[in-house]
Amino acid sequence: MELTSADPLLPPAQEPFYLPHADEVDVFTECHRNRLPVMLKGPTGCGKTRFVEHMAWRLGRPLVTVACHEDLTANDLLGRYLILGDETVWQDGPLTRALRVGAILYLDEVVEARQDTTVVIHPLSDHRRTLSLEKTGETVVAAPGFQLVISYNPAYQQALKDLKPSTRQRFASLTFDFPDREREAAILMSEGGVARDCAVTLVELAARMRPLRERGLPEAPGTRTLVAAARLIASGIPQRRACEVAIADALTDDPLLLGTLGDLIAGSF
Ligand code: ADP
Repeated sequence: MELTSADPLLPPAQEPFYLPHADEVDVFTECHRNRLPVMLKGPTGCGKTRFVEHMAWRLGRPLVTVACHEDLTANDLLGRYLILGDETVWQDGPLTRALRVGAILYLDEVVEARQDTTVVIHPLSDHRRTLSLEKTGETVVAAPGFQLVISYNPAYQQALKDLKPSTRQRFASLTFDFPDREREAAILMSEGGVARDCAVTLVELAARMRPLRERGLPEAPGTRTLVAAARLIASGIPQRRACEVAIADALTDDPLLLGTLGDLIAGSF
C-alpha cells in the first residue's frame, strides 16, 4: 500500500508542474463538478499520475493514491480490525478514508488488483457514492469533493477483462499518450534540468526506440525514463551512460534488444 501524499488529508501544497496535452484539464474539472468518476488510459510513464496530482492541487482536494498490485485485496482498501492491547479497533483503509474526507482517490493500474477489489469500486462509481462496510455494519457516504479516478495501461490486454463492462461504463474516459515532441522536450527541460539541445536529442532518441515495441521491447520508453536520463545528464553523468542506465537497461535484459538500443544511443550522442 502506498500513500504518495505525506498527509493525505490535505490538498497538495504546491502546484505540481503539468504541461497539458489537450483539453484534459477542463474536461477533468467538469467531471469533478458533475461528480463523475474518471478513467485514465495510456502507456506507463506518460503523465497520468502527474496529471492527477496537478488536478488535486487545482481543485483544492486531498489526494489519496494507491498503487495497485496483484496482492491488493478489498480489505487493504476498506480497512481492518487491529488488536491494540486488549482492545480491537477499526482502522480505515485508504478508500474509506478518502470517502470520509472528500478526497480524490487515485487507483493506479487498477486492473493489477484482485477481482474482489474491482467489485468494491462498483458502488462508488454510481450516483449514490456509498460504501457498505460489512465488518462494521457502517454505511459510509462520500463527503463532497470525493472523486474516484482509476488508471490502466490498455497495452496489457489480458487485464481488461477484470473491469466489468457495467463498472467501466460509469467512468468518463481520458486517453493519454506520450506528449508530442515539442511538449516532451519542454517537460525534459523543466523536469530534467537539461538544455534544449539535449532535451530534443533525448526526445528524438525516444521516437526511434518506441517502435521497437512491435519488435519485442516489453514496454516503450516513457517520458519518465527520459526525465531520469535527463536528470543524470544534468548531474554530470556522460550522456551515453545516462541513456544506458535510465533507458536501455531499465527497459530490457535481452542482449539483442540491448544491442539495438545501444546503437540508437550511440547514434544520438
Ligand atoms: P504515469 O502515471 O502515466 O505512469 P507519470 O505521471 O508518473 O506517468 O509521469 C512520469 C514522469 O514524466 C512525471 O513524474 C513527470 O516528470 C513527467 N511527465 C510526463 N508527462 C508530463 C506532463 N504532461 N507534464 C509534466 N511532467 C510530465
